[in-house]
Amino acid sequence: MTVFEEQMIKSLHVRSMSETDLSEGHDHAALFQSSTISALLEGRYDGDLTFRQLAERGDTGLGTLDGLDGEMIALDGLFYRADIEGRVSEIDPSSRTPFAVVVEFDPDLVSDIGGPGKMSTVLEKVAAVLPEDGVVSAFRIDGRFESVLARSVPKQKRPYRPLVEVIASQNMFEIGPCTGTLIGFRFPEWSEGLEVAGFHLHFIDEDRTRGGHVMDFRILEGTLSAESSSILEVELPPGVDLTCGDLAGEVHDAIERAERPG
Ligand SMILES: [Zn+2]
Repeated sequence: MTVFEEQMIKSLHVRSMSETDLSEGHDHAALFQSSTISALLEGRYDGDLTFRQLAERGDTGLGTLDGLDGEMIALDGLFYRADIEGRVSEIDPSSRTPFAVVVEFDPDLVSDIGGPGKMSTVLEKVAAVLPEDGVVSAFRIDGRFESVLARSVPKQKRPYRPLVEVIASQNMFEIGPCTGTLIGFRFPEWSEGLEVAGFHLHFIDEDRTRGGHVMDFRILEGTLSAESSSILEVELPPGVDLTCGDLAGEVHDAIERAERPG
């Protein structure tokens, strides 16, 4: 039985479902997302799925925590939180996330990205090797970093303010030089609102002590591994729609300011 609603959006299969549909089994090649970036922009910061539920859908990814309490990094099946200062701790599986995207990472592409290089150059190289149309891509870059400029956000209290206001009180910090991993996603331009269109990157160092949402970096050398999928499964909390495309200019600007690296 098909429990989800499937829509073809510009040749990408987008399947939406509610929390109760999660137990129905899933496509291991699909990217899985909880809620939408539009919902987060509106201030829906209450946790939805638990990290235990999220772990059943992926071992690699990024997102945030209940009450927007830091930045989330998932790597090799473990889920980490980077607090307002960028300090990393493991997340309790019973805690919840209001927004996350994960994948059961099984790379179909591995490539040396060379170096040293700045973020814009590296992302151009990544863009050049990822497939273009009808797919969403997840990737990681393991390497040695000269520096990573990252940010995290303070835990919010109700009534929640919109994300753009919260981002105004974000804390930026520099990590490195260190060895570590960038976790990234690239979504097509039309998916803005559903997701952060373009690149979205989080970082964690090898010792799992420092991390955050990436604003900029300089890499010394690194290896890219990537997986692309034509299927995106989206779990929608009550009252959240599958917002996609044709967003107002203000929403575009808000995503640009809140989530896009650089
Ligand atoms: Zn982020």
